[in-house]
Amino acid sequence: MFSAKLDGGRLICLADGYKADELRQLRKKQRFYCPVCHHEVDLKVGDLKLHHFAHKPDSACTVSHEPESLYHLKGKRLLYEWLKQQRIKAVLEPYLRQISQRPDVLVDDGKRKTAIEFQCAALSMTEYQKRTSGFLKQGIQPFWMIGGNRFKRLSNSFFQLSAFHWQFCEESGMPPRLVFFCPEQKAFLILEHLIPFLTNKTSASCRVLPLQQTDLQALSSIQKPSPYQLEGWKRNVRSFRMKPPRFLSKDARQIAALFYENFQIPLPFFPSEVFLPVASGSIFVQPVYVWQGYLYLFLMKHSSFRLKSAVLYMNQLVRHEELKLRWNKREKAVSAVTEYIRLLHDKGFLTKENDMYIPARQVSPGLRLEELLKRDARYFSE
Ligand SMILES: [Zn+2]
Repeated sequence: MFSAKLDGGRLICLADGYKADELRQLRKKQRFYCPVCHHEVDLKVGDLKLHHFAHKPDSACTVSHEPESLYHLKGKRLLYEWLKQQRIKAVLEPYLRQISQRPDVLVDDGKRKTAIEFQCAALSMTEYQKRTSGFLKQGIQPFWMIGGNRFKRLSNSFFQLSAFHWQFCEESGMPPRLVFFCPEQKAFLILEHLIPFLTNKTSASCRVLPLQQTDLQALSSIQKPSPYQLEGWKRNVRSFRMKPPRFLSKDARQIAALFYENFQIPLPFFPSEVFLPVASGSIFVQPVYVWQGYLYLFLMKHSSFRLKSAVLYMNQLVRHEELKLRWNKREKAVSAVTEYIRLLHDKGFLTKENDMYIPARQVSPGLRLEELLKRDARYFSE
């Protein structure tokens, strides 16, 4: 952390531009205390490292998330300076007594307050929810920025996202998007239009915004999906068919068994209809071909059906834990099913009479790989 109290109670903030020599002198005459727990803290002065305060190793400070990494210290300092350059009212590490929380930076633009949390370390769901609801209770909008150290690109348009990342999308009613900040690259990375393919492999459009060419407002602007994203999705389905994974999760094995039983086809030959890039599909934890696979089985068992019965069927799968939701939000799962059915209708796989959907019967299991890839191409283009 950058702030501490002096013997007289005055607050000192190291982000205010102290020189190393100055601080070494000060350290000889002064003791420093944590503004929250009032225990004595050490002033760490370094020529290479950022100057900062640290609790003694045995401290039990309620809001300290230490040991703070240099990466984290550097990041919050850069963010604070960046906000000040934009003449935005910002406070570094303010202690909010009513909720016993200390966000990295608190922003007040006159209209509303925003707490910026620069999250570089692991964070449990409970802690995330506790901190988020604490801010909201105070009328403060939390803004979680994820450390660039937790950004992992798998290919041009695929990223490794875990439950840690997804939790930051939970509260917002908006389509999921993630904002990363890397103090080393001095840039923000924005992931939008998140569509999971596997549990921890997600397709997204990625933008890099250099810190010095970006303002706070620009971080919330939403852009259209990049054309590379759909292209990447198509390539990914292709390689999944050519080189299927050697190890399958329990859920994947289960759907593979069901497809084999019903259509005598193995996983790499699954129909194109279970690999559709459905934006609201991120509500399901399992691979895309699992949740769409179950719905496909449902469609193929009915000569016609109503959207409502597809939703009821999905609800039943959720109740029996065959489908797992990423967040406890059933209405989002309903949107995913609706979007999926509409997409199949748009692509001509389903026809519609009044409010009944009718699956095309010509679908023949046992298509050869080349035919499948051709079908994929039709689905995965605009
Ligand atoms: Zn403390």
